[in-house]
Parts: sequence; C-alpha cells; structure tokens
Amino acid sequence: MAYIDEVLKRRTFAIISHPDAGKTTMTEKLLYFGNVIRETGTVKGKKTGKYAASDWMEIEKQRGISVTSSVMSFPYDDFYVNILDTPGHEDFSEDTYRTLTAVDSVVMIIDSTKGVEPQTIKLFKVCRMRGIPIFTFINKLDREGKDPLELLSEIEEVLGIESYPMNWPIGMGKRFLGIYDRYNEEFVHFNGNEDEEIISFEELENGQHPTITENPVYDSSKEELLLLDEAGNEFDVERVAKGELTPVFFGSALANFGVETFFNTFLRFASPPKPRKTNLGLIPPEEETFSGYIFKIQANMNTKHRDRIAFFRVCSGKFERGMSVSITRTNKSIKLNQTQQFMASSRETVDVAYPGDIIGIYDPNVYQIGDTLTEGKENIHYQELPAFPPEIFRKVRVKNVMKAKQFRKGIEQLVQEGAIQLYKQESNEEFILGAVGQLQYEVFEYRLQAEYNVSVEFTNIGNRIPRWIGNKDVDPRLFDSRSLLVRDRHDRLAVLFENDFTYRYFQDKNKDIELIDLMESNDYK
Ligand code: GDP
Repeated sequence: MAYIDEVLKRRTFAIISHPDAGKTTMTEKLLYFGNVIRETGTVKGKKTGKYAASDWMEIEKQRGISVTSSVMSFPYDDFYVNILDTPGHEDFSEDTYRTLTAVDSVVMIIDSTKGVEPQTIKLFKVCRMRGIPIFTFINKLDREGKDPLELLSEIEEVLGIESYPMNWPIGMGKRFLGIYDRYNEEFVHFNGNEDEEIISFEELENGQHPTITENPVYDSSKEELLLLDEAGNEFDVERVAKGELTPVFFGSALANFGVETFFNTFLRFASPPKPRKTNLGLIPPEEETFSGYIFKIQANMNTKHRDRIAFFRVCSGKFERGMSVSITRTNKSIKLNQTQQFMASSRETVDVAYPGDIIGIYDPNVYQIGDTLTEGKENIHYQELPAFPPEIFRKVRVKNVMKAKQFRKGIEQLVQEGAIQLYKQESNEEFILGAVGQLQYEVFEYRLQAEYNVSVEFTNIGNRIPRWIGNKDVDPRLFDSRSLLVRDRHDRLAVLFENDFTYRYFQDKNKDIELIDLMESNDYK
C-alpha cells in the first residue's frame, strides 16, 4: 500500500467524558467490533477483578486503576484505528490533557440522564482551543433521561459549540422505539436485543409498521425532527473538521444500540492525521521524512529495571524499527530498537508505523516530554506542549532535612517529566505544587519515596484559581494568603487566588494588573 494511503486510513482519537457516562462500555464495544476482544465486560479491572494490560505501575495495581492514558490500536474496515484512553476519575491528570494534543478527533460521551457534566467541560475546553473535531454520543437512551432538545441546547449553551443531530431518538427509557437516522435516511428499530432492525423511511411513511408509527411518542418526536430540519444547523463537513460543529448521535453503549452506525459514520468524517506546528512551520503527514514528538513519559512500568516508556506520536514519515533518529533538543542520535504498540491485552513490538500512530519507545533516561525526534537533518521542534492550569495546590516539605538534596533532585526530575507543576512562593521561597488531579500527588509522593528515598509532608492550600501576571513588575504588598504570589518554574509571576470571589475583587481593585488565564491565552494554543 502506498505511503499516503497508509496515512489517510489512520484515525487517532480519544474518548472524553465525565466518570460513569459510559466511556469504558463504549471503548469495549469498539474493541469488540475491531475483533480485539471477544467478549465485552473485561477491559477495566474495577468490576471484573481482571486488570487490563495498561495497569503497569505498582500504584495502579494497588488501586485497580490506570494512572496514565494508554493506547489501543487495531484495523477496522478500511481504517486503522488508534484510541487513546483519557482517564476520567480521580486519576485525571495533566497526562489526560497532554494526550489530547496527540489526537486528531475526539468522541465526547454524554449521559442523557445527566447532561453536560464538569469533567466533560474541562476536557472539551482543551479540544476546543486546539480546534479538534468533536463528535458527540449521547448515551443511555434506554433510560429515562433529559429531553433530547434540552440536551442539544445544553451542549450549545454550556459548551458553546453548535450541534447537528445525525440521528434522533424516538422515545426513551421504556418507551424507546429507536432512532431516526437523519444522515443515512433510515429508521433503526430498538427491539431490546442486539440485532438492530433497519426500516426505510418509505416503509414507515407507507404505514407498514403501525406498532411504531401509531405509538404516541412517534408523532411528538417527528414534530421535533421537523423543527430541527427547519430551524436547526446545517450539516457542514468543513465546520465539523474545524471543531465548530459537533455531529450528535443518540444511542446506548450498554445495549449496543446505535454504536456501530455511530462508529462507521464517525470514522468516515473524523480527521485523518493533521499537519502539526513546528518552529519551521506546519509539517503535513504527507511529508516522508520521519518525525514526531513525545507527549507522555511513563516511568517505572517495571520496578526491577526502572525503565521508562516514552509515548511518541508519529507526525510524518514511516517509522521502521531500528532506524536512527536524532533528539533535536540535545542533538543526540539514537537507534529506535525497543518500540511497542499497544493492544488492549498486550504490548507488542512494533516494526513499522505511520503518521497518526502512537508508539511506545523505551527510554534510557534521555527523553523529555515534548521532545521532537526526527530522521531529517533539519533542527525541527514540534510546538511545545502547553502547560495546563492546575487546580489543586499544596505546599510540600521534606520530612527529614538531611534529605534536602535528594528532595530537590527528585522534585526537579519529576517536574521536568511533567508529573506535577512546581511554584515558589515569592515571599518565603516555599515550594508549592500544582496539579490538575488528586492522583498526581499520590504518584508524586510514591515516586519520591520509591526512587529517591525521600518522605514528604504536604500542607493543603486547597483548590485555587491560578492567573499569570502580564506586567513586568508588581508590588508584592498587594498580595496575601488569599492571593498568593508565586513564580512558576519558568520564572513567570502568577497569583493563586483562593476562589473566584477573591480573584474578581482583586482584579477590580487592581485594574492595571494584567491577569492571564492560561486556558484562554494564546500561549496555550
Ligand atoms: P465510564 O466511567 O465513563 O468508563 O463508564 P462505564 O462504561 O464504566 O459505565 C458506567 C455505568 O453506566 C456502568 O454501570 C455501565 O454499565 C452503565 N452504562 C453504560 N452505558 C450504558 C447505557 O447505554 N445504558 C445504561 N442503562 N447504562 C449504561
């Protein structure tokens, strides 16, 4: 197969959702369609006691969760699918955000009984900023949920993205009859078992299925459909590709209803590998010189060897095992012998890979998050990964002052790896850590102990709103414990506000101080 055909069949995406919306159930269905697993109900350890291959670290085993996102790859139809897992629960971390830099599209799962939930909003924002195409699957239609029109307007209002329903549910919960597939122009009848019965619009119109058309929910759903046809958004492939319009699908992951049609339509419209930004401009996947970047490093998958795996997104060219590449940050050349690709049940050696693919590279302690590797001669750097605004802050101290040196070394290493963010309080030089998820602290504490033999003590300073200061200089006397003045590790000044109220009060009183929200600044994109 020609190089370009290999590239165009890649679909690299993440599934994002709030915990319990059905991400695992959906992922399992997709793996099942892809013949990766033979039965569903086995991927995550939390219910079955069986652990997935992605649960490497000791801490993962202890808690039965997956600390860092893993990747699952498989061929499906004419496509080659790479699903990147983004943990949703307490295991939410900066890795979750960084993973989103390595995908070309995203599937957002929304629980129809709950609507748009907080974790979804956070992840959505990151996708939106980066212009990633977003496809929505509204799940659990077999249960009595919110009104579909209400769900649509919630998506539009809370998330601020326009929507186009690709299908429309007729009834829900006990009265759920099926979905009206606007895109393929057919009705998919929900009869409670896994075989979907497909009925053409024509047959329905001709009254050949009175049990459906005479059901009272049929008429009211038809009215909603007419309304959507007249007043709803137009389907526009280009706006979908830019992440301005989200195609919406209704269904039930658990009942396996509407999942396969969703997947097929999604793969058709989801972006193939996109060009990515470097210091020398955009590099398209058609470029045949091999290059890409590391978006995550997972340490100590095997405690005996203290090995680390770097997760690498191929952006251009063909990867071949054994090839020599250079790390452009250090200009060092390295031979890529030990490489892996990730399947749901195993890690396998990978011999070739194409743009869009994610490979795991054995890291003999030479890589950093954000590193570019290339076979080419030019000194390219893929755009630096953004620093994600943390939310949870803690002061950290070493318990035994005799260990201060190891403590500093450990912190430095872990911060550089991107495990957690470090700030120094301006007034007294105390260390403050920032994380987007609680688990980052547990991993931090665990690793300092295991790898540097250092015990630490945390003082919780709660959830804070960080804002970076745009001004060159500020008067330190303006700040107090409710508005902590700190420096980040790039020596930029920032303020950690106790809450939204203190933030607004401060801004109101100090209009000349420019306070920057990383999520909204240009740096971030
Ligand atoms: P995750 O936390 O997003 O990975 O969610 P899970 O896939 O683990 O699902 C959370 C719960 O919702 C589980 O008990 C699932 O069985 C259930 N669930 C998932 N999809 C559906 C669905 O379509 N209908 C119903 N009724 N329950 C579902």
